[in-house]
This record gives sequence, structure tokens and C-alpha cells, in this order.
Amino acid sequence: MNRILALALLLGASLGSTATYTFTANVADGLATVRIELGQHRSSKRFDMPAWAPGDYAILDYGQYVRSIQFKRNGQVVEHKPGSGPNTWDIPSGADSVEYTIAPSRGNFTPNLRMRDKETFISGPGVFGWFEGAAKEQQSLWLTRPNADWKVVSSLRTGQQEPNRAEVIAADYDELIDAPIVAGPGVRVHEFIVGGKPHWIVGYGQTEGVDLPAFAAVSKGAPEQALLLFGELPYQRYLFMFDFGGPGGGLEHRDSARMGISPRQSPASARGLIYHEYVHTFNVKRIRAEALGPFDYTKPAITGTLWWLEGVTDYYGEVFQMRAGHISRNDFVAEMRGTFDQVSSGRYLEVSADESSRRVWETRGSFGFGGISYYTKGRAAGALLDLAIRAHSGGKRSLDDVMRKLWDECKDDRPGYKDARIRELCVEFGGAALGPIYDATIMKAGPMPFAEALKPWPFVMFSRDQGFVVAADANAADFAQWPLPIKR
Ligand SMILES: [Zn+2]
Repeated sequence: MNRILALALLLGASLGSTATYTFTANVADGLATVRIELGQHRSSKRFDMPAWAPGDYAILDYGQYVRSIQFKRNGQVVEHKPGSGPNTWDIPSGADSVEYTIAPSRGNFTPNLRMRDKETFISGPGVFGWFEGAAKEQQSLWLTRPNADWKVVSSLRTGQQEPNRAEVIAADYDELIDAPIVAGPGVRVHEFIVGGKPHWIVGYGQTEGVDLPAFAAVSKGAPEQALLLFGELPYQRYLFMFDFGGPGGGLEHRDSARMGISPRQSPASARGLIYHEYVHTFNVKRIRAEALGPFDYTKPAITGTLWWLEGVTDYYGEVFQMRAGHISRNDFVAEMRGTFDQVSSGRYLEVSADESSRRVWETRGSFGFGGISYYTKGRAAGALLDLAIRAHSGGKRSLDDVMRKLWDECKDDRPGYKDARIRELCVEFGGAALGPIYDATIMKAGPMPFAEALKPWPFVMFSRDQGFVVAADANAADFAQWPLPIKR
């Protein structure tokens, strides 16, 4: 077959195929009804619910929340049987549609489904399954709405709007379940623009008296700093979704983040969470480990770099806040000293960042294996590697260079990085000394190698008792530059 003909056939197949989802909330009985139709006389012999959800590195078996399920082919009910695990159904004769009811569930960082008289919230992995063979095609989702005044808000493309239902469209199943949706008459949106791209502050839940523009004022430094670092914003539109009064914590998504906020919380007190979740738009959603892209929702996605994906995200959240002028350099340095202090005792000396990442699946909390948090250890590691690269490159390079190179290598849906790549890039920008420094910081348990990291800067000393002590020296300006971007 010639290549043009093959491409035409491929395009014809993918353009023509859409899986159609219909979601209806039943507030009275607390269950939602989901219907999925393959259409076009296609059928599939297997249906799955996700075993886990991106951002939440724990097996939560969302199949267990399916309460009743029925498969059909050409309008006739067809037999199904349990598949290989709690999230899988086999349909020996093939089905072209499924209808099931699903109960609300929670991940470690987000509710998956919440239904009230005036509001519905959906986080896809706990609600929507997929037919084998249909995950890569376009997905159209129709939300039943009680009234035409119900707004449907998500990062997905808006489709048709009818009085009692609204359509959103995803390019594929990955996009469908990585875009939380909130619907209701009281959902509020405040827009601001950075880099020519709309950013929405979305407020829902207990929004009375909440000042959305004030949240915008605090949030906008995050995309501004990301634009300076990466030179681009990789989405059409980004949503900061604030669930006022909802369960705490935040969960990142490709083009949005859902954050649980107290209705009385000031925007400034939510800033750490906001910046962390926003940095994930780059680091984790696009810069990602090989095991995390493309996703396999049926089994653990094991990587030794969750310290990078969570902890260095946290570090950059702090760096961006400082660069945006929200915190002073003194406060930044004091904050990092506190983090170094945390990782310098107890279990932190016994479990490596790599092991804590790889084995998180043996825990349920999604914070790290071995009684330590890879958020905290990774945040300290990010700060130390940044200092080490700056010191060993004579103040000419920084962790920004590693981040930007990973970005260039992973963006645009390319396969994720191999775990060893982060070490290679630290060496590329910081020189050979960064190899053993990386190994001591990441691969081995034990104390952080401050002396080795700061060796080219004899004017800087770090100790837990005294923090950073800087002697007067012509080169001390290089240390004073941390964590600002290095101008070249
Ligand atoms: Zn995170």
C-alpha cells in the first residue's frame, strides 16, 4: 500500500470513529448512570475501569464502584463475565454499548464524583471506563443537565449545547479522564490572559463572598514564570479549579488542576498549592517518566523519579513564587534550610529518593515508600542539585537547564524520559562531579552531600545548626543568584 493511501485510510478510520459517553447524575439515589456507545457497527470484547489514576500512585481499583452493568449489541443484551481482575469485564460475543451505575469514590487527592442538587463534579478515572480498541479515538461526552442554566466547565472542547444536555469533546480517552468537569448554575469563572492564552479561575462549592480576582492576582505569576522558563505555554486554555469547602489537597491535570480550598482561606495562603499544581502542567503532565506516558491504567507505573516529578515540582513552585516576587530571597533560603533540616534525620537517612519513588505502590497514601515523603526529599534534592550545578559550572548553569532540556525532549506527547536521563543531564550541565553528587542525593540513603555540592564555593558553608553562612568573596554573587534565572 502506498503511504498516502495508508494515511488516508488511517485518517478516515480515526476521523470517523467516536465513542459517545452519556453521564446522568441521580442525586436522590447517590449513583450516576454512564452509557458508552461505540457506534458505527463496531464492537469490543473487553471493558475496563482504571486501576489507578495519574497523579495518584496507588492502586484504587475503580471497578469496585460499578454497581450494575449491562452490555448490548445491536440493541440486544449480551452476556458478560468477570475479567482478569476487579476492573475488567469480558464480553465473549462483543458489545457495541454498555450502561452502568457508579458510586462516588475518592482518590488520595480528589473526589471523583460528587452530586448535589445544584452541582456535579466529575474526575474521570473514578467514573468513566473504556472499551478495548476505542481508547485512542475521539470521545464525546454528553452531560445531562436539569436546566439550561447549568454551566458545564472543563478544559475540554465545548461541543453542542442543548437545553437539557451539553457536549464536551476529548481527542482520546486519556484527555477525557484527565479533565475534571464541574457543572451547575452557580459555577463562577474569572478569566485572565498570560502569553496570549486564557487562564480561568473557576470557583465552585461554597463560593459566597469569595474574591476570584484576588485568586487570579496570586495565580498569574505561575504561568508568567513558566513562560519565562520554557518559552511557551503548551495549552489552549488552563483552568485553576477551586473547590471551596471541598476536601483538601490538589490534583494536577493536563490543562487544569482541582484544588480543595477552605471558603475562608486567603489566596496567599493557597499560593503554595496553586504553584505546585500549576508546575505539574509542565513537570509530570508533559515532562514525564517513560512509565507514565503513554499511560497504562491497568497496572502500577513504576518509576524511580517521583522525587523529581513531585519534589522538584514542589521546589519549582517555591522558586516561581520567589521569582514572581511573592516571597523574598531570605524567606526562600530559610524555607530551603527548613527542608534540608527535615531530610537530615530519622527515616530520611535510611530510604533513598529512588527507592521511595519506585516502591510507593506498596503504600496507599501516594507520598512515598519507607516512612518518608518523596515530596520533601525531592524538594531538598532539587535545591541541592540546583546549588551543585550552579557551583560546579562557575555560576553559568542551573537546574533550569536540566528542566528545559527535559522539556524539549518530552513535550508534544513524546515518550517519557528514561530514569537515568536526569542524572545524565545534571552531569551535562554541572560536569562530572555531579555524577557522584546525584548518586549520593538520589540513589543512596544517607545525608545530603552538602560539602561535595558546594565544594567550588568555599565561601559558602551549610550546616543544620547555622544554615547557610556566606563569607565575603567576589564569587559570592553566584550564590546570591540562587534561585534566580542565570542570564546569558
Ligand atoms: Zn504534585
